[in-house]
Amino acid sequence: MSEKLISTSPADPEDVVGTFAVADDARVDDAVARARAAFPAWRDLGADGRAAVLLRFRDAAAASAPDLAMLIARETGKALWDSTGEANLLAAKVDVTLEEGMRFIAPIEAGGGARATYHPRGVLAVFGPFNFPAHLPNGHIVPALATGNTVVFKPSEHTPAVGDWMARLWREAGLPGGVLEVVHGRADTGRHLARHADVDAILFTGSYTVGRALREATLDQPDKLLALEMGGNNAIAVLADADLDVAVAETALSICASTGQRCTCAGRIFVDKRIIDTFTEKLVRVLQKIRIGPPLEEGVFMGPLIHTAAHESLTRYRAMAAAAGGERVLLVSPDRPAPYAGAGLTRFFSTAQSHPYQREEIFGPEASLYPIDDLDQAIAAINDSDYGLAASVMTKDRRSYEHCIGRIRTGLLNWNKATVGASGKLPFGGGKRSGNHREAGVASTVYCSVPQSHLESDTPFDSATLPPGMPKP
Ligand code: NAD
Repeated sequence: MSEKLISTSPADPEDVVGTFAVADDARVDDAVARARAAFPAWRDLGADGRAAVLLRFRDAAAASAPDLAMLIARETGKALWDSTGEANLLAAKVDVTLEEGMRFIAPIEAGGGARATYHPRGVLAVFGPFNFPAHLPNGHIVPALATGNTVVFKPSEHTPAVGDWMARLWREAGLPGGVLEVVHGRADTGRHLARHADVDAILFTGSYTVGRALREATLDQPDKLLALEMGGNNAIAVLADADLDVAVAETALSICASTGQRCTCAGRIFVDKRIIDTFTEKLVRVLQKIRIGPPLEEGVFMGPLIHTAAHESLTRYRAMAAAAGGERVLLVSPDRPAPYAGAGLTRFFSTAQSHPYQREEIFGPEASLYPIDDLDQAIAAINDSDYGLAASVMTKDRRSYEHCIGRIRTGLLNWNKATVGASGKLPFGGGKRSGNHREAGVASTVYCSVPQSHLESDTPFDSATLPPGMPKP
């Protein structure tokens, strides 16, 4: 009897979303072999033939987005507004890939018979996280398929039902057998898939810990591409001239979207010392009133965390705040049991970023406030981080914001907007422990492809082109 994954809703442990067979090594080997066998025909179908299948998937994804949103809400606990936003991104990714992304891998014409063409890598392994179980794997799968690769997809063990739902939609869109294989399981399944000799690239979205393990597991496979989209410990600078209502609303969203479980959620808020008291009071008032409840209940902003272990981890971090030098300003206690969690705020009196509470990704609705004297102090403190994903600057002065561009070392830098937003038409990613600069978003076609350069000629022999000393044939 093979091991089973039983997926239950974080909002109701009695609600069994589905039961799935865990793929052992032999099942993973079979999936990779099927994806390898399907590769030549899918590659040779050409970009237009593949685009026709992608467009059918797009239409089906758009038509069934409301059903997918319900499933995401049920399986992850994410509030329906949030799950609906995610479900709507699937179809959009197809358009962005076909209309914009494919341009990134257009042949390079260098003149004089020199050009480069781009080609699929082969079999790509896609690893998904639980927090965006459809959008983020889809963000790798769509460009991988559009560029002619085949895929073995391992959804998060916490969201297997969403993974299966996506695979079914692809089948119904007419994707040939073997072009997208799904394997379910936990770390063991992922480890075997990642190390597999016949997997050409790993497209991973998840934590730094697992991204690091993948790098370690593939040290002896230097030609295996790793596209790592990992965690964040994101920051906001609030300057003295900021529109306070904008700053407070966007900061609250940055702390609490998806119950703090987005890679782009903000945990470090650097506020000009002249306005920090007023800003804190306003932020506390908003965070206290955020509606927490079951994800499918109307008007709910925050559902539960993904599981009780995530709640225990958040509680452990919260307990560290005092040792880190912080004073607790707010801890909202929801009137529902764990894994429901409310927002938390602490206040520090210097910008030092030395304690694990300040340096690690907490992945829950918890943030700290720090006083700053000026913008450059905020930039230095924002950059004093092991992560480099997202930051925002709140100011009415465009020049102050532009001073930060290129100086704040994050892949995403927003102005008077939350850290949690993103445009699918732009590159998405970051450096340090957030990623290895294989930017996703519109540019994801690039890491799905390899270039081949050519020097070409169809002109008749001309002895004048021979180097000195080379005889005529
Ligand atoms: P995770 O790292 O725990 O798991 C991600 C995937 O890796 C899962 O499918 C898991 O089963 C698999 N896995 C676990 N151990 C493995 C191993 N040893 N070898 C191979 N595969 C293994 O991540 P999560 O908890 O599902 O997601 C949350 C994390 O993802 C956070 O750190 C968050 O910041 C990050 N994230 C990043 C982005 C981004 O775009 N940068 C987006 C969303 C989430």
